[in-house]
Amino acid sequence: MRITCPFCGERELGEFTYLGDAKPVRPAPGASEDEVYDYVYLRDNIAGVMDENWYHGGGCRAWLKVTRNTLKHEISAVEPAAGAGARQVAK
Ligand SMILES: [Zn+2]
Repeated sequence: MRITCPFCGERELGEFTYLGDAKPVRPAPGASEDEVYDYVYLRDNIAGVMDENWYHGGGCRAWLKVTRNTLKHEISAVEPAAGAGARQVAK
């Protein structure tokens, strides 16, 4: 599998580190114990298209949001992860 980094271009998988599902959002301060438990421990096991966080440690060191079909390893989109401040640089 190869990933096309928006900053470095197409690179081999070994340059990247998988960081998991990009969907969970950190609960607000004061959230219930159940909400925090779900955020920290529970993940969906999606068979199909999902957004994932990847880190390009062997390249630009950017955090990326990769949209990937987990059944085919087919990547349909790669963009800088929200909050990384890299979105402005990519344009
Ligand atoms: Zn990169």
